Amino acid sequence: MCARLSGSVLVTGSNRGIGLELVRQLCESPCPPTHIFAACRDPDGPNAKVLRDLALKHPQLVTTLCLDTTNQGTIAEAARLVGDQLKDGSLNLLINNAAINIPGSLADTGEKEMMEVFLTNTVGPMLVTKEFLPHLRTAASRPGAQSEMSCRRAAVVNVSTLFSSIQRCHETFLRAPMYPYRVSKAALNMLTRCLSEDLRADGILVMALHPGWVQTDMGGPQAPLSTEDSVKGMLNVISSLSDQHVGALLDWEGKSIPW
Ligand code: NDP
Repeated sequence: MCARLSGSVLVTGSNRGIGLELVRQLCESPCPPTHIFAACRDPDGPNAKVLRDLALKHPQLVTTLCLDTTNQGTIAEAARLVGDQLKDGSLNLLINNAAINIPGSLADTGEKEMMEVFLTNTVGPMLVTKEFLPHLRTAASRPGAQSEMSCRRAAVVNVSTLFSSIQRCHETFLRAPMYPYRVSKAALNMLTRCLSEDLRADGILVMALHPGWVQTDMGGPQAPLSTEDSVKGMLNVISSLSDQHVGALLDWEGKSIPW
């Protein structure tokens, strides 16, 4: 099935893991977006070689960009470059994927760990969304834009996690304590809800998406899902988003996760 994602897309943290696979599947889709902005911390560095090769293979489709979610200057510069490159200034889909996890027990977790993870996983998506908002607004309001909300009109997808669920914490906590990560992603969910209410009037859909437990550097080799299957599911969910999904927390199969 072809995940329909016409328009332009920006993915943060796109040099490895789920972000890289998102860019790969978007490039290789039979109905690819018009443009993919693949953002990462160090697009010229050794950890972005696979992404650079992908961009070389699809030069008309992919632009790599430097964007560190903890560095306001790089976010603003990326937004400026995207604005320059977009024909009509319209960005249709922003995927806030970049994140870190510092696992450990309560004894291992201090202010430094809490703040570092919160800055990357919560403040980062807030700043990125804020900086790209003019481009998302242009997409949502351009002549001929559909009246229903969707990723083809304008949308922000925040990559969250099952571990953000307060209701399901008792099922998952003991095998994965992860204080900073869980707290940062629960806060990301609230950010998602706030943005979804705030941007509804602009016609911009904001939601949160759990990719499943995935074989990446973060998920580890024992994870049951491959990046291919997770991202295939994520793109199916993203491409079918509509008004009813404003502010939702869904998993890669489209199932709702309780807050
Ligand atoms: P990885 O650790 O494999 O990749 C993380 C990506 O985020 C890398 O590209 C990394 O770049 C980037 N990143 C980290 N910090 C920053 C920053 N400050 N600015 C920009 N980019 C940054 O993680 P996954 O691919 O597994 O995770 C992707 C998303 O999915 C995350 O939001 C994660 O929380 C979520 N998720 C993952 C699960 C899993 O099982 N894998 C489960 C649930 C949710 P760099 O190479 O520069 O470090």
